[in-house]
Amino acid sequence: MKKLIFATHNNNKLKEVRNILNTYSIVGLNEIGFSKEIDEKKNTFEGNALLKARHIYNLYKKPVIADDSGLVIKVLNGEPGVHSARFAGLKKDNQKNIEKVLKLMENKKERNAFFTCVLALILNNKEYLFEGRINGTISEKKKGHNGFGYDPIFIPESYKKTFGQLNNEIKLRISHRTIAINKLKRFLNSKQNVNI
Ligand code: IMP
Repeated sequence: MKKLIFATHNNNKLKEVRNILNTYSIVGLNEIGFSKEIDEKKNTFEGNALLKARHIYNLYKKPVIADDSGLVIKVLNGEPGVHSARFAGLKKDNQKNIEKVLKLMENKKERNAFFTCVLALILNNKEYLFEGRINGTISEKKKGHNGFGYDPIFIPESYKKTFGQLNNEIKLRISHRTIAINKLKRFLNSKQNVNI
């Protein structure tokens, strides 16, 4: 089976990618003995995804994918954006992040937002990027306990409930990450003869 390193320590993300790229053997950072966190210090999702992919590619010289994702809110000039994980402080705290967003959005009528996921692939020294995006709106209040991060305040387009309320199967079908992974899958399938 063709092998791809996924530059992440996050088991949920690994599971999602394995589910879709099921004809590949997807190996996480823990499995290759890389335990450090790679700093996401760029100011774009593309920059951070590439930074992580390049770091691992330079060390192992094997095909690698890496991702960066976040919530982009129009009236907040794109924030939390690349700062999504640490929006309310250095420690990653989902509850505080949600509270900060709701406070900044108080009395705002325009509540459009999107989740984005950028996947970087490095294969035979070439870099490729794939983006998945899901549009929606920010709810007035936190609702539901499913998912993670900003899920309890994000209502995907054409639904009435937040990702926190919707069941995980629906999210898995329509999420930004799923869209990006499917684009990557189509690309890999179209390059079937390329050496991985
Ligand atoms: P990263 O891609 O692991 O750096 O995640 C960035 C941050 O974006 C997460 O910590 C969450 O706060 C937020 N985020 C990314 N994807 C999702 C999602 O599917 N639901 C909720 N929050 C998300």
